[in-house]
Amino acid sequence: MTRFIFVTGGVVSSLGKGLASAALGALLQARGYSVRLRKLDPYLNVDPGTMSPLQHGEVFVTDDGAETDLDLGHYERFTGIPARRSDNVTTGKIYSTVIERERRGDYLGATVQVIPHVTDAIKEFVRADVNGEDFIICEIGGTVGDIESLPFLEAIRQLGNEMGRERAMFIHVTLLPYVSAAGELKTKPTQHSVKELLSVGIQPDMLLCRSEKPISSDDRRKIALFCNVRHEAVIPALNVDTIYAVPIEYHNQGLDTQVLRHFGMQAESEPDLTVWETIAGHLRQPEGEVKIAVVGKYTSVFDAYKSLAEALAHGGIANNVKVNLHWMDAEIFEREDAVHFLEDVHGILVPGGFGERGSEGKIAAAKFARERNVPYFGICFGMQMAVIEAARSLAELPHAGSTEFGPCDEPVVGLLTEWTRGNQIERRSADGNMGGTMRLGAYECAVSAGSKLREIYGNALISERHRHRYEVNINYKDRLERVGLRFSGMSPDGELPEVVEIPTHPWFVGVQFHPELKSKPFEPHPLFTSFIKAAVEQSRLV
Ligand code: GLN
Repeated sequence: MTRFIFVTGGVVSSLGKGLASAALGALLQARGYSVRLRKLDPYLNVDPGTMSPLQHGEVFVTDDGAETDLDLGHYERFTGIPARRSDNVTTGKIYSTVIERERRGDYLGATVQVIPHVTDAIKEFVRADVNGEDFIICEIGGTVGDIESLPFLEAIRQLGNEMGRERAMFIHVTLLPYVSAAGELKTKPTQHSVKELLSVGIQPDMLLCRSEKPISSDDRRKIALFCNVRHEAVIPALNVDTIYAVPIEYHNQGLDTQVLRHFGMQAESEPDLTVWETIAGHLRQPEGEVKIAVVGKYTSVFDAYKSLAEALAHGGIANNVKVNLHWMDAEIFEREDAVHFLEDVHGILVPGGFGERGSEGKIAAAKFARERNVPYFGICFGMQMAVIEAARSLAELPHAGSTEFGPCDEPVVGLLTEWTRGNQIERRSADGNMGGTMRLGAYECAVSAGSKLREIYGNALISERHRHRYEVNINYKDRLERVGLRFSGMSPDGELPEVVEIPTHPWFVGVQFHPELKSKPFEPHPLFTSFIKAAVEQSRLV
C-alpha cells in the first residue's frame, strides 16, 4: 500500500519545505521504507526551464530530460533516488494538458472548470507513475493563501478524503518568528496559517515549526491546542549549522516516529543514521580548507547554483576539507587589472551560463587558470569558454567565438541542430521554441583510455545530464589537439565533444554536461572529488 504525505507551507516562503520533505524521505528510507518525492508548483510557467535563475534559482535537470524545480535536487541528494519527469508539475503544465484535452474534444461538450477538470488533472499527476513505493511525499510549492495554490490544495483535500487518514497525511511547515522586544516566539502567525488551511478544508496532522530559538513545551502545547494537532505532532524544526544534519535533528524531534504513528505503523527500533552523522562530522571538523573561485553571472543569488555549491561541498567531504566558495561576477575580469583577484585561489570554476554578458570575463578566468597552472573546472558554458580561450591563445584563431553571441568567423562553439540519442535522431531549429528544446537529460559519453578523465571515473562509458543548445564544433578538434588540448570524452558516435582536458596542466577539465546534478553527500561526484583534491595540492603551493 502506498501512502501519501502532503507537505504545505505557511506564514512565509523559503521555510525549507523542500529540505524538510527531503529529510523526511531520508528518515523513512533509513527505517527501511521505499519513498519517492514530488513537487507541485503553482506558477504558470509550463516548467522552470525558461525562468531566470535570478528569479527562481537553478533549473534542475532529470535523467529523462525534464527541466524541474531545484527542490528535486534536494530530494535526490538526500535519498539518492533519481527524480523523473513525473515528479514535478506546474499549474502551467496542468492547464496545457486540460486545454489540449478540451481541444481534442475529450470532455464531450462539458463546460471545462477548475473543479473538477483542473483538480482531476492534478490528482492524476499525484497518482501517476507510482510503482509500489511505501511513501510518496508530495510538496506543494508556494504559501497557503496564495491565489495560485488553491486548485492544488483543493486537489490534495479531495485525495485526503478519498484515501482516508490511513493512507494520507498533511504536514504543514510554519514559522515561529522571534520578537526580540518581547523576548519570545510568536505562535499567532502559525495559528492564522492553519486557519487558512482549514478554510480550504485541510486539517493538518502535523506542524513542522521552523524557529531560530528553542520552542518551549508551553508554546508547543498552545500550538497543539489552537491548531487541533496532537502535542507530539508539533515538531520543532530549529536552524541547523549544516543541511546534512537536518535528518538527524528532525529525527530527534520525532518527525519520522510521529509520521509512522499517524499511519498506525510500528516504530520500535531506531533508524540507522550513521551516514548522516559521518557527513555532518566531516563538515564540522575538516582538516584543512581550500578557496575556490566560482566565476559566473548569477553570483548574487545563492540558489542560482544550488547543486554546484552542494557538489563542491561534497568534494570537500571526500577530501575532508572545508571548501570556501568565492562567488565572483565574471564581468569584473573584463578589466585586465582584475585577474589579480584570482591570485590566491586554489581552484577556478566557471559554471553553466547563457548569453554573451560576462563571457569575455569567463574566458579571461580560463586563460589565467591555464597559464598559471591553477586547477580549472569548466562546466557546460565554462567548458565552451575554455575551448574558445585555447583556440584564440594557442591555435592562432583570434576570432574564435560562439554563435550563441551572433554570427562568428570561427564558430568554435556552434548551434547543433541535429544529434542522435540511442538510435533516434533529434532535431532543433534556430528559430524554434525556447522552452524544453535544448539537449536535455542523460547522454552517454565514451572516455578515452589513458586520459585524466578515465583515471577520475575509472570507467570507459559514463552517463551525465545535459542542458545546452550549443556544442564545441568537432571541425576544430584536430587543430585544438595539435596545440595541447585533448578531447577525452566524446559522444559514443564520435560526433559531439563531451570533455576536453589539458594533459600538461595539473588539473584542467571542461565538461559539456552538468556533473553537479548527480553528486550526493554520501557519494561525492568523482569530478568534484578530484577537483578539490587538486585544489588541496594547489593550496600547498601558494
Ligand atoms: N549557453 C550554452 C549553451 O546553450 C551553455 C549552456 C549551459 O551552460 N547550461 O550551449
